Amino acid sequence: MSRNHSQSAALYAEAVQYIPGGVNSPVRAFKSVGGDPLFMERGAGSRIFDVDGNGYIDYVMSWGPLIFGHAAPRILEAITDAASRGTSFGASTAAEVTLAKKIVAAVPSIEKVRLVSSGTEAVMSAVRVARGFTKRDLIIKFEGNYHGHSDGFLAKSGSGLATFGLPDSAGVPANLTRDTITLPYNDIAAFREAFAAHKGEVACVMLEPIAGNMGIVPPVAGFLETLRELTAADGALLLFDEVITGFRVSVGGAQQMLGVTPDLTTLGKIIGGGLPLAAYGGRADIMDVVSPVGPVYQAGTLSGNPLAVAAGLEQLTILEEGGPEMYDDLTRKIGRLATATQTAADRVGVPIQINRIGSMMTTFFTETPVTDYTTAKTSDAARYAKLFRSLLEQGIYFAPSQFEAAFVSTAHTDEDLDATIAAVDKAFDGLV
Ligand SMILES: *Cc1c(COP(=O)(O)O)cnc(C)c1O
Repeated sequence: MSRNHSQSAALYAEAVQYIPGGVNSPVRAFKSVGGDPLFMERGAGSRIFDVDGNGYIDYVMSWGPLIFGHAAPRILEAITDAASRGTSFGASTAAEVTLAKKIVAAVPSIEKVRLVSSGTEAVMSAVRVARGFTKRDLIIKFEGNYHGHSDGFLAKSGSGLATFGLPDSAGVPANLTRDTITLPYNDIAAFREAFAAHKGEVACVMLEPIAGNMGIVPPVAGFLETLRELTAADGALLLFDEVITGFRVSVGGAQQMLGVTPDLTTLGKIIGGGLPLAAYGGRADIMDVVSPVGPVYQAGTLSGNPLAVAAGLEQLTILEEGGPEMYDDLTRKIGRLATATQTAADRVGVPIQINRIGSMMTTFFTETPVTDYTTAKTSDAARYAKLFRSLLEQGIYFAPSQFEAAFVSTAHTDEDLDATIAAVDKAFDGLV
């Protein structure tokens, strides 16, 4: 028996008349997996429920923020408590200082931090800081990494651009990406060559230290270390975009896990506890170029919003309380899912590559190990779409795109995983 999606279908038909594509962020439209997008009504723990009353075990988790699952009681309490005292002041609050202190204590590279409202804004601002500090214009980024949707970063990006196969976005004047050099991820030789050709000209080298927006792609041995060594010698800054990995792979993010400390770091997703909050920070001498101390302007009406800060503060507090054991258990859970997926694929003879690190994983349908954007693109997206639809029908919600991660939360139980594993096993029968 097929699940009923009639209410979602009716809402989508209405939505497309008023919202471009019916959605407020492109990948939500399900274009690469087929079918109409679902409209969600509520979430609780590991589950989400659509407007037709169907329940799903959720592995999207709002694309990463919800490390404690949906409607986590302590987060809700923190938000409602803050809301009862006013939703926004446009002035400083004590909680902002507490959150800043927590971030500085947790993230190795951050001595000073500025709060903003989205990851896009965080990266855009951090790059402005890098340029203001170094008085250089060039930036180097990597194919398949996603740094939000601001103009300079939309060449060969991951996330929605990868999903829709767009080389870059229309509406970005050529002279705005002229100062962006894009290189293949994990290619140490290509980086050495490009960097040597622009000695003394590069403001910052920016990357996801563990890529998550072309699906999960961990850095190869020596990649981050080479970037660190060469940028330091040249006076260029190293920027880790940890919007996904910050507080996801460890309290100190990928930089702590992998032992490479950048000059600047961007955070988002988890630090907002599901509310709009992001941050950029780094060495104090660099961050002191930011206005009102220095000449780099950056501001925000809702920056450090009390509700978002309350949610973020509570979220980070629970993560600290949970400690490494909490992260180990998340890793164990995604490990169960990865092992079962590999077993199912082997059983039916479908070639896959599973990339996983911490509590994140991606299944690629290819015989080629996935180490960069080119190899990620070898994945059979039609097979992923089939897997997605079969799982959805069985009440399991994975990302509606190949080029994303699956996330587990502390709310996912072993029973949830048992159910998911059974569904995955069944889904692979249909992939042959
Ligand atoms: C999600 C993401 C962004 C953009 O954050 P938004 O809050 O969607 O603007 C930037 N960088 C990375 C690595 C991301 O995963």
